[in-house]
Amino acid sequence: YHYCPCTSFTMSLAPSSIPSQLAAWKPGGSDEVLSDEFLEKVVSDALVWSALHGLVVGDRSNSRSGKVPGVGMVHAPFALTPTPLPMSYWRQACELAPLFNELVDRVSLDADFLQNSLSRTKKVDEFTGRLLEIHLQMLSLDKKEEIRLGLHRSDYMVDSETDMLYQIELNTISSSFPGLGSLVADLHRNVLGHYGQDLGLDSRNVPENPAVSQFAKALANAWSEYNASRDGHSVSVVYFRAGYTPNDYPSETEWRARLLIESSSAVKCPSIAYHLVGTKKIQQELAKPDILERFVENKDHVAALRKCFAGLWSLDNDEIVRTAMDKPELFVLKPQREGGGNNIYGTDVREMLIKLRNEGNDGLAAYILMQRIFPKDSLSYLIRDGISHTEKTISELGIYGAYLRNKDKVIINEQSGYLMRTKVSSSNEGGVAAGFAVLDSVYLT
Ligand code: ADP
Ligand code: MG
Ligand code: MG
Repeated sequence: YHYCPCTSFTMSLAPSSIPSQLAAWKPGGSDEVLSDEFLEKVVSDALVWSALHGLVVGDRSNSRSGKVPGVGMVHAPFALTPTPLPMSYWRQACELAPLFNELVDRVSLDADFLQNSLSRTKKVDEFTGRLLEIHLQMLSLDKKEEIRLGLHRSDYMVDSETDMLYQIELNTISSSFPGLGSLVADLHRNVLGHYGQDLGLDSRNVPENPAVSQFAKALANAWSEYNASRDGHSVSVVYFRAGYTPNDYPSETEWRARLLIESSSAVKCPSIAYHLVGTKKIQQELAKPDILERFVENKDHVAALRKCFAGLWSLDNDEIVRTAMDKPELFVLKPQREGGGNNIYGTDVREMLIKLRNEGNDGLAAYILMQRIFPKDSLSYLIRDGISHTEKTISELGIYGAYLRNKDKVIINEQSGYLMRTKVSSSNEGGVAAGFAVLDSVYLT
């Protein structure tokens, strides 16, 4: 196992270490300088903690890693101290979790909305087309999913220009890092428990992160709702840790398996409809005027959801395409893909738009345009391969949400922990510029 790339920053190799800069900054914001010696001690303790508590991932440099259990592991890259986040954004993001859970469920039931919204995408994006085909097959069978389980993660960045918390995307399949994310919060509480005074940080300001136990609880509850006793050895819950990228379907066999699972009576996490709701295209359609109201009755909920929507456009809007060609640095161009490393930034946006336009209209339908968010940067110690790097960084907050329902009965609808990811501010998300992102937690201010 290595990082499941889904919905994660690209974690590529770090630049060489800059240990001498370690003493340059103190997280508490004080001018007082911490000694290299002190920081080395904190890093060393954190590394020991990681090894003892399983904050580890497969080590790519070991060829037996992932083949022999217990062989070839290395600590997951992490930020040495949690990243400050104002309480108001934290509350806002947490309160949105049950609203997005409910929204996903409601949208998933509107088959026409899903099929129509993705109809142009389907023509130019074979992968999305095949997902839609499975969805259509289930419609023709009049297949009903009575027990519906969602384990989502909604990702946000705070825009420094507007001070707004904007949703980057909503993941409905293989939302990654509930396990390691929970551990990083524990690590940070431990580090601050020991060194909080020296660092000027209080461990009580790191919120607990029960992502892993709450996701496990939701899976277990889905199993009990299914009530497996009614048929012996049947599979009651299927969780997809793969299946969100075309690479996961190298042959027709995998597509047949996906179809078989979808046709079965098992609870699917996600169902094909939940999977489709998580596409970038649906995110963009939901941001159009008057669409949210179709799915959400409560006006306050509509307003809260809409408030976190950044600018999102389809490329059949000529005016926005022209604006994006003119000022490409203000936009991100996104295909219908998950897993990081697929988006287009900067002057590449202009080039891609010109290329797609010249090729004819349909190619544009594979993409959406999004307003680029510019978070404020701060300094972090990023620890990778046992080495600390002092970097200017920006962070993305993910809020997990668990949702379980059986017919009309909502059994779980809650915020279920969080994931902070921090990366060097100069990297987009990966691709051309080599990114260096780490797991992190939140320090509430
Ligand atoms: P994926 O499903 O591949 O994770 P995302 O929409 O999350 O796709 O994009 C991947 C990464 O690109 C994000 O984690 C974030 O770092 C960056 N990114 C995406 N959208 C924006 C945006 N509108 N502004 C700034 N950065 C963005
Ligand atoms: Mg994603
Ligand atoms: Mg993402």
